[in-house]
Amino acid sequence: MNSETSCADRRPVISVIVPIFDEEAVISELHRRMAAVLDGIGEPWELVCVNDGSRDTSLSMLLALREQDARLKVIDFSRNFGQQLAITAGMDFAQGDAVVVIDADLQDPPELIEEMLAKWREGYQVVYAVRADRKGESRFKLVTASVFYRLLHRITDVEIPVNAGEFRLMDRQVVLAMRRLREKHRFMRGLSSWVGFRQVGIEYQRAERFAGDTKYPLNKMLRLTLDAITSFSYIPLRLSTYFGFFLAALSLLGIVVTVISRLSGNSAFFGQASTLVAVLFLGGIQLIFLGIFGEYLARIYDDVRSRPLYIVSRAHGFFERDNRCDSKSAPENPSGFHPPAD
Ligand code: UDP
Ligand code: MG
Repeated sequence: MNSETSCADRRPVISVIVPIFDEEAVISELHRRMAAVLDGIGEPWELVCVNDGSRDTSLSMLLALREQDARLKVIDFSRNFGQQLAITAGMDFAQGDAVVVIDADLQDPPELIEEMLAKWREGYQVVYAVRADRKGESRFKLVTASVFYRLLHRITDVEIPVNAGEFRLMDRQVVLAMRRLREKHRFMRGLSSWVGFRQVGIEYQRAERFAGDTKYPLNKMLRLTLDAITSFSYIPLRLSTYFGFFLAALSLLGIVVTVISRLSGNSAFFGQASTLVAVLFLGGIQLIFLGIFGEYLARIYDDVRSRPLYIVSRAHGFFERDNRCDSKSAPENPSGFHPPAD
């Protein structure tokens, strides 16, 4: 951007955040469709692409597009930190009054942003998109997604909307509130419910990925599920208490039954096999619960160490040297990290 740009031009009304991990196949189409939709709305906008350590040509493609369109801004991570942290960085840097988070693969139609803005103008501060239909996804993905949403809904204390992904619009006030949440293992959809404010969902048809493959293999999905559960529920911890009471009651009953059967001359519960089975069973249960405690403990450890959530190698389009505009134009950056301007 050149220094003649006026302050009004500088601070966008709409920010769209897109996490990018190996998305070279979709970037041009993403920019084309997004620009068409946002230009149609007629407010100043910025497209904040967070390059999450892509190994392909995504970064050079983004920078080439930025040469033609300065409204496209690029935050380049020093390595892959994951989609949730890419969204976090986008929200730390985004300057708009309304901030939209969307996937790069065009499964979520950018055209829905208009409808989201209409709800926002009605006074809703979070407008999340609910998937009415998911095309082109494997049966496995559909089943695991459905189990995931149901489980989460049952065991968490926060009302996390079912079948809503990352695609949502948030008012600046919500974004400012969410910037204060600096936990490491984050589940952004849960956090955006947790902060409260006036929320509403709108339905949409989820399309197929425009190009490329999913960047969420099973292990990443499992990790996200664990982060979601541990962030919003103590039930896995309590399970060990419940199970302990249950097993203690059962073994009391076992003692009574054994004593009675022995007294009546019955030869029940003799031999090593039953002892071995009981010991192995209990050993297994104890290890499972140790593992569950470990999941929580590791997350506490990560948070206590308080390393930065992500490292930006370079931010393109932020921190302009010319700072004559009002304070609103300077992005608040709670990560405390100020990369050089481009
Ligand atoms: N993504 C990312 N970092 C990662 C994995 C994914 O930034 O480590 C981005 C990816 O580029 C895409 C979004 O997260 O914009 C969602 O990924 P994808 O569409 O592959 O997930 P799916 O829709 O298959 O669950
Ligand atoms: Mg996708």
